[in-house]
Amino acid sequence: MTTAIIGAGLAGVFAARRLREAGEDVYVLEATEYLGGRTRGDREALKHGAIGDLGASWLDRGQDRLLSFCLENDIKLGAQVAMYPKGPGPRYSGASILLGNVVVGGAPLATDARQRLAAQVQDALDSQPPGLAETVLAWARRVGLPPDAFDAYTMQTGFNPVQRPGMTSSWHVHPGDIGRICWLLDGSTDVLAHRAAEGLDISYREPVRLVSRGPGGYRLLTDRGEHRADDVIITSSVNATRRIGFDPVLPSWKLEALLQSPMTQGGKVIGQYEDGRRIIDAAGPSTLTDTDAAMFWYKPTGQDTVTVLGCMPDSGNGLLDDEAAALTLLDSQVEAAAGFTPKRIAGLVHNWTSQEFFGGVVSSQTGGAARREVMAASVGGLHFAGEATGTRWATAMEGAVRSGERAADTVLGKRRALRGVVAPAVALG
Ligand SMILES: Cc1cc2nc3c(=O)[nH]c(=O)nc-3n(C[C@H](O)[C@H](O)[C@H](O)COP(=O)(O)OP(=O)(O)OC[C@H]3O[C@@H](n4cnc5c(N)ncnc54)[C@H](O)[C@@H]3O)c2cc1C
Repeated sequence: MTTAIIGAGLAGVFAARRLREAGEDVYVLEATEYLGGRTRGDREALKHGAIGDLGASWLDRGQDRLLSFCLENDIKLGAQVAMYPKGPGPRYSGASILLGNVVVGGAPLATDARQRLAAQVQDALDSQPPGLAETVLAWARRVGLPPDAFDAYTMQTGFNPVQRPGMTSSWHVHPGDIGRICWLLDGSTDVLAHRAAEGLDISYREPVRLVSRGPGGYRLLTDRGEHRADDVIITSSVNATRRIGFDPVLPSWKLEALLQSPMTQGGKVIGQYEDGRRIIDAAGPSTLTDTDAAMFWYKPTGQDTVTVLGCMPDSGNGLLDDEAAALTLLDSQVEAAAGFTPKRIAGLVHNWTSQEFFGGVVSSQTGGAARREVMAASVGGLHFAGEATGTRWATAMEGAVRSGERAADTVLGKRRALRGVVAPAVALG
């Protein structure tokens, strides 16, 4: 029996790997010419062998499945980093990020100003905690944060989850569990997908347009042909999945879950600068700003250069499609953080929202675990995976990997059940 997997991002390759290890027939159809989906690295734009991580960069403590995969496969992690300090008080919260390196109005905020803002936000979080579905903007308005604390608190949504504050659930940033203790991968993030995909049967430039069910199983129509399978694991993002036709149409509960799962909107801006050590010493490990170059971090690269990687929410002003303007903005913010004018030698901007097979950055947290379970539920032989279906580490790489393995286990469970039914029948015969 054969399983087809739609998508060669982390969910897809880890699903395929698990099925292959169990001796199953499995193949992957990938729409683009790239492996790794939202972890893809750009190998063209930067200099001195640097690879620009267009999507994910950070492995956080707690992404245990991936951390153990790195260990087992001798994949090197860079230095452990805390992107912002613990506090206020001995804990992490949505206010903690304000204690890190923050640039407002083109100038770095002094330590006492950051402590004051963080304390104001912390007081409000303690006395009037945000509701589950309340957006960051709605909460900040409801509790009446003073203007400078309001701006400082709400700007972190541009980094995590790369979205505007009015579109981001408070749940996503409070408590801020991304960036406390984390690692960048040496080289590029897509080493994970490349290593996991070794030996797999993957066809590129094969966007699946229609999945139809017939008496002999499923038929998958792509731009290049037709494939057959007994089970299908769908790992495309929410917006990409909505673009696939299903015959018969998906049941209403599944369609509703897909329609009620918005994706955050934005991309990445990446600049490579000379005097890398000097910039990192002055400004690293990360800088939060009140501009569209929301938050960026510093990765040492060859010939004493530093690659600065920043998240950029789609503010609707066209900046994500104007590379020169976006990079100029990044230059100005790096200058403010470092305290001198840096010389940029390369750079690029990647807009995830406008990519046909992605349609955004990650799924929104609004709706929480209950909706994710509906997103993950199988429909006959159609099994759903990908970060949007993850119940642990949803939206992150870890959630994608676990979801792929969960879907593969569902298929393996079906096969076992089938063998259990067939075996006694044969014995009786
Ligand atoms: C800017 C950015 C920063 C991020 N930062 C981090 C971070 O620091 N740490 C972290 O843990 N996570 C981060 N993430 C999230 C992480 O990248 C994702 O959660 C994860 O990579 C998603 O993997 P996936 O397999 O679910 O989906 P994807 O990576 O989207 O893979 C799905 C694949 O399906 C393909 N596809 C889509 N439609 C079709 C079709 N019709 N037919 C065939 N193939 C199709 C796509 O081309 C894609 O390759 C970030 C994401 C972005 C975009």
